[in-house]
Amino acid sequence: MQIDWQRAINEILSGEICCPRCGALVPEVVVGYSRAASASQFAPLCQGCNPHEECDARKLVLLCEACAHELRLRGRKVNQEGMMVALLEECRRNLEESLDYLAEYWREDLDIDPEDMDKRLEEADPELFTQENAWRRYLEEQYLKFHHWFRERSLRIPNAAWRSEYVEEIVALSYETLLGD
Ligand SMILES: [Zn+2]
Ligand SMILES: [Zn+2]
Repeated sequence: MQIDWQRAINEILSGEICCPRCGALVPEVVVGYSRAASASQFAPLCQGCNPHEECDARKLVLLCEACAHELRLRGRKVNQEGMMVALLEECRRNLEESLDYLAEYWREDLDIDPEDMDKRLEEADPELFTQENAWRRYLEEQYLKFHHWFRERSLRIPNAAWRSEYVEEIVALSYETLLGD
């Protein structure tokens, strides 16, 4: 079953929770984590990761209770607000990982020569940089949607200071962000 995640996310934003596996509209979903590549089709943020068919990252998966039981997903049951908090936190976690990667980790990942330590990722591997940048951009777009969801309902955004810290660090690395002011 091919999931249209943009639609699913829009439905989430509009007030219903639609199970990405069976399509049931439910008041509560199970939120859990999985590393299985097969789970990426049920992981909202994986829509933007590349290539998500082979995604072995630890990812947040949302399923209705029946599907969670069937797929043996370990997790907790949350209502819509709980789900939005989980999505927001997952989005932040991924953005932090992306930030760390741009700042430092890519050097280990690519095993670059010590004399190239001063290079930036976009110089060392433009293609990889483009891919990483697209992923980060996608995450930031989702972040803004989640943020808007809380705002629209006058709900408190958990750990609101996170955003400005992230922006400071990205700007310090001379990269652009949609989350700035
Ligand atoms: Zn289901
Ligand atoms: Zn993924």
